[in-house]
Amino acid sequence: MRLYNTITKQTEHFEPRGDQVMLYSCGPTVYDFAHIGNLRAYVFTDTLRRTLELSGHSVKQVMNITDVGHLSSDGDEGDDKLEKGANREGKSVWEVAKFYEEAFKRDSNLLNILSPNGYTDKKRSDNYARATDFIESQLALIMLLMDKKIAYQTEEAIYFDVSQAPDYEILTKQKIEEKEVAARKEVVTDRNKRHPQDFALWFFTVGRFAGHSMHWDSPWGKGFPGWHLECSAIVHETLGEPLDIHTGGVDHIGTHHTNEIAQTKAAYDKQLSRFWIHNEHLLVNGEKMSKSLGTYYTLDDIIKKGYDPLTLRLLYLQSHYRSHMNFSWESLEAAQNRLKSLRAFADLRFQAQSQNNDSSDMFSLLIQKFIAHLRDDLNTPLAIAALSDLIDNVGQKGLSKQDLGQFEEFLKQLDDGLGLRLLDRDDIPEETKKLILEREAARGSKDWQSADDIRAQLLDLGLELEDKAAGPIWSRLS
Ligand code: AMP
Ligand code: ZN
Repeated sequence: MRLYNTITKQTEHFEPRGDQVMLYSCGPTVYDFAHIGNLRAYVFTDTLRRTLELSGHSVKQVMNITDVGHLSSDGDEGDDKLEKGANREGKSVWEVAKFYEEAFKRDSNLLNILSPNGYTDKKRSDNYARATDFIESQLALIMLLMDKKIAYQTEEAIYFDVSQAPDYEILTKQKIEEKEVAARKEVVTDRNKRHPQDFALWFFTVGRFAGHSMHWDSPWGKGFPGWHLECSAIVHETLGEPLDIHTGGVDHIGTHHTNEIAQTKAAYDKQLSRFWIHNEHLLVNGEKMSKSLGTYYTLDDIIKKGYDPLTLRLLYLQSHYRSHMNFSWESLEAAQNRLKSLRAFADLRFQAQSQNNDSSDMFSLLIQKFIAHLRDDLNTPLAIAALSDLIDNVGQKGLSKQDLGQFEEFLKQLDDGLGLRLLDRDDIPEETKKLILEREAARGSKDWQSADDIRAQLLDLGLELEDKAAGPIWSRLS
């Protein structure tokens, strides 16, 4: 399999180091509903996992949930997003985290995103690694960095000294001095930071954070962890270093992932991950999603307009994960039509006809082609495009009974790879099938009136009929 690695800026051949692929994915900060840009990131990670599994790998995936410490900037400036959420809603931070975690899990289910499988939270009986459940591990990491004098303490925080991180620019290829210039432009809140680009590992509950409601004791004083720390600590506790693959959005490259790499290298003298894979952003009308322009959408907004959540999943998959994707309602409408035709295609398995077209080679060739596109740096647009010819071909010729086994196998691979739940729908009821046969009989005896009546009855039942040479084929209206 080939994957684009942000570290080398090249598409490389990928093999896991051991028996299982160790995959870590940066997860959501649970202070608000995920928007459709965030959700693109998780569908991308899910597609990566599915493609690895389709290629025969066993995957161990861990995803964190950030429920503390992510400030309104990705650096050390601003307020904690969770505290802001709590103030906005007049709830406690714990209530806010719980509420938006549930919303995230619901969105993930609706989009058929596989739940991570590399860690189990026994308390909550789910599979997400929450930052607040890994405080001990984060403190142990700080302790190591303090011992090595790579971390230092001011009155406000404990910082990581980036001047001591030899590979600090490994992801961005941006020199620290250049980053320093960018960092200086920001408001540097702590005058005692040694270098503006040093980042906080632990904030003390003083100054702007004096009233911070989430805090823990530490050997250096009460406080809470900085955002970047949790991922290094969770990886260390769960999958171990080096990971085979670490994923996130492109916005993580410059700060969050750069800092994760530096912490892990400095504390454990280990590379955090061999491959770094980043998804590009989603745009709306060619621009960043914006609340004030009314172009900020959640999955609920999509559902409220009557779309199946899997339509959004298909829309994501029609763009390559490393390309900007532009969301519009027109493109969602087109994806809905495409999903409908994919579902009608899958429904052909209930309507195999006895005529003798031998298409079995075609199915096995197409399965290979489909998987080959996915294995080529997750080329989902080409994998989906490759289906169009097949859909036309089978649509015209019909599915012959001898190809049914191959066809079902093909659909299973499609579902495993794309997660569109094509196989979830059952056959139509026997009575409906009888109606279709009755209509055939009426047509046979040229009783056009009865045939039309039955067609109308079937429409009421949500089925359309198309008369083909080998007999009628039904498809569902939705
Ligand atoms: P957050 O919950 O803010 O930490 O972000 C969750 C994930 O969504 C991260 O992987 C981000 O990189 C990603 N993300 C944020 N905005 C967008 C966007 N417009 N398009 C795609 N991914 C995004
Ligand atoms: Zn992370």
